[in-house]
Amino acid sequence: MAEVKSDIEIARGASKKAIQEVGAKIGIPSGDLLPYGHDKAKVSASFIKSVQGKENGRLILVTAINPTPAGEGKTTTTVGLGDGLNRIGKKAVVCIREASLGPNFGMKGGAAGGGYAQVVPMDDMNLHFTGDFHAITSAHNLLSALIDNHIYWGNELAIDTRRVAWRRVMDMNDRALRQIVVSLGGVANGYPREAGFDITVASEVMAILCLARDLKDLEQRLGDIIIAYRRDKSPVFARDLKAHRPMAVLLKDAIQPNLVQTLENNPAFVHGGPFANIAHGCNSVMATSTALKLADYVVTEAGFGADLGAEKFFDIKCRKAGLKPAAAVIVATVRALKMNGGVKKEDLGTENVEAVKKGCANLGRHIENVKQFGVPAVVGINHFHSDTEAEIQAVKDYVASMGEEAILCRHWAQGSAGIEELAHKVVQLAESGAAQFAPLYPDELGLFDKIDTIVKRIYRGSEATADKSVRDQLKQWEAQGYGHLPVCMAKTQYSFSTDPNLRGAPTGHSVPVREVRLSAGAGFVVAICGEIMTMPGLPSKPSSENIYLNENGDIEGLS
Ligand code: ADP
Ligand code: MG
Repeated sequence: MAEVKSDIEIARGASKKAIQEVGAKIGIPSGDLLPYGHDKAKVSASFIKSVQGKENGRLILVTAINPTPAGEGKTTTTVGLGDGLNRIGKKAVVCIREASLGPNFGMKGGAAGGGYAQVVPMDDMNLHFTGDFHAITSAHNLLSALIDNHIYWGNELAIDTRRVAWRRVMDMNDRALRQIVVSLGGVANGYPREAGFDITVASEVMAILCLARDLKDLEQRLGDIIIAYRRDKSPVFARDLKAHRPMAVLLKDAIQPNLVQTLENNPAFVHGGPFANIAHGCNSVMATSTALKLADYVVTEAGFGADLGAEKFFDIKCRKAGLKPAAAVIVATVRALKMNGGVKKEDLGTENVEAVKKGCANLGRHIENVKQFGVPAVVGINHFHSDTEAEIQAVKDYVASMGEEAILCRHWAQGSAGIEELAHKVVQLAESGAAQFAPLYPDELGLFDKIDTIVKRIYRGSEATADKSVRDQLKQWEAQGYGHLPVCMAKTQYSFSTDPNLRGAPTGHSVPVREVRLSAGAGFVVAICGEIMTMPGLPSKPSSENIYLNENGDIEGLS
């Protein structure tokens, strides 16, 4: 076999077009592109406004089975399918999330796709890019600083310093900052209290930026953030500190979508990147809805497996933004199916058709679930070098037995040429008009019943359980006018249950809701089921050890 090039080598070899040429493909005049270098640009607010009257193209969601720790290739498939659709003559735009900088130096790879299905410049995208995460970090921390400053100058709002809900953020994996004490060192530094840092992608400001329709909406939502509670438990809002307007100033450019290109010079919007656990895990509404005005097809992804990612895409993003997906691709890999069938990570290289068959129960569940939302689905098997014919056939047979189709895709190795068949199938599904999208539950359903509905219908558990204090909290929010909000489930991505080791398609498990949080600005109630990390740490051998500048000054080691 020829030597396999690394993602960054392939990306470096790309023959990129000037970003103005890429924008012209979807009708963005060069004057409406605000360039960041030669190969990245933001799209002007006035241009976005000017296309609002146009008809929408078709929205395709790429989601996946429950993943292995390595990731299953959702981003790679999203990018590949975008190129595949362009290859068969459709005007298609890819919409993906921006990468968090910190995890690149830990163990997770980047977020630009992989192999011959990537967006470029992948190194910029995985590092500082157009500065959006810097802006989000700054806006978030401005609010943090204003809170402690307000307390320092007399605390007129009567904030209970034990109940400050707003933490600080930075875009780095740094476990040392998870729990800290601030304002130490004497009278001049304020009142000591416990605080802590989350990673920037966990900031509610990130979720808000990704759900906001425009700058006005952004400002409104920033004002709605609950920063703390008083002794009588009444909430204090960012608006009470007059923080929302300067925060919007800091986010003025960050809210404009970023245009880059795929390796095949097709347009890609890379914008926003909220966590997929305590937030909804999708790229921005601004980018997706703008792309829909400019293209026949928009291919976008949602984080984690379909139990979390697709459910939140449908129930939070589509519900809030009025989006109507036309079809979904469920990415499966033989490797992840084997793991769902009980094979250990070390043994994934060995053929095991029986384990694939067993693991297919997980895939089957996701197919049924996506169809519950009225969205037709096709399975894309993301081909890995180690897959065998018999294993691939087992997946195809299983999916055929459900009356659906699984298509082998080789975009990672071959680019768009390897994914034509899937592209044709997606067009057929989308143009059949079969989609009748509806969210899983109505706005009016009670908050706990929303959680219970997801547990029963998506996770196929017996019920959601919660202590009285959690249920009382939800009731209180309903009384305060938050009952119409959707819920954002935060649980392990590895299982339909809350036990990451319980793979496959478990049933009958109960799902305990440990804690609930109100993201009033973003507009959802977070239900925390299990341990959720909002500030990751670095592993014992972080990938930073292999990231360096070579003799030409080029970056090595990013993937
Ligand atoms: P996800 O979006 O599901 O987290 P990605 O698309 O980011 O996954 O892919 C995760 C990693 O797996 C990337 O480093 C990518 O290069 C690699 N990868 C994806 N598909 C393949 C494949 N078919 N063969 C080999 N490596 C792959
Ligand atoms: Mg991804």
